[in-house]
Amino acid sequence: MCGSVDRIIATRFTRSLIAIFNPEPHDKWVRFHLTRRQLLANVGYAAAALPFANMFPSRKTHIVTLSFDDGFKKSFFRTAEIYESFGLRGCFNVIAKPGENWKNPIGNIDDWNRLKERGHEVMAHTYDHTNLTEIPLAEAKRHIDRCADYFEKHLHGFKASESVYNFAYNASNPDLDNYALTRFLVVRTQGNTAVNPIPTHRKPVLIGCWSQGPENGQAFLDKAINDFLASPGGWFVYNTHGLDEEGWGPIGSVYLDGLLKRLTAMPNVEVLPAGEVVLRLRP
Ligand SMILES: [Zn+2]
Repeated sequence: MCGSVDRIIATRFTRSLIAIFNPEPHDKWVRFHLTRRQLLANVGYAAAALPFANMFPSRKTHIVTLSFDDGFKKSFFRTAEIYESFGLRGCFNVIAKPGENWKNPIGNIDDWNRLKERGHEVMAHTYDHTNLTEIPLAEAKRHIDRCADYFEKHLHGFKASESVYNFAYNASNPDLDNYALTRFLVVRTQGNTAVNPIPTHRKPVLIGCWSQGPENGQAFLDKAINDFLASPGGWFVYNTHGLDEEGWGPIGSVYLDGLLKRLTAMPNVEVLPAGEVVLRLRP
């Protein structure tokens, strides 16, 4: 392939990929930057998805979402690099007002806007990480509202009605789930299983996840994901946090790199951020 054709195709597919991956096509802030290698790795996906974007649910049998919570700055940017090396979007969930009581440094809203500009999905992980099951329901609803309002004001292109709400500690109850679903498109909480039905329409949906900590959660994740891959399929959602030594139940950066390499080589598997699984569908 000669250089000029290469560039034309690269430009065409860059536009296509922005259209596919950007849930808000008119949002000037969101750009999906790909290296040529990453771009070419996605050409098959883009070509297959283009004519049908937002029209049909996935034909893949297994969707994997690794949902990174809390906002550990070093880990989140390293995770973003690893995802980008496979042409993938990371799934990052951050806290509006995280406070100071964290053992590893937490990023700020400018960091999250930078990750979003790089094409990653950045969603809400509560207003201030309060366990909403431990406060009165009316107060808990105000927390959810404050969270939605904060990110709509400060996170570029964020609309709660097109976003994911991730409960702190994955702690919720039916009243909290139902209220959060009036503000957000997707609500993530603790599940009896980490495997959810693959959605078929862009409608509000409650999803369950698994998580494991406070020590390294890699072995638990590895078994859960291997069991899932051996199953008939569905949407596997695993809540993780930092890499290596950071955060609750961290996983190794080398492990993450190897896992994504394995998953992206499987023809029946898609690795997607949680919001995209629903946002790409028609209502
Ligand atoms: Zn958290």
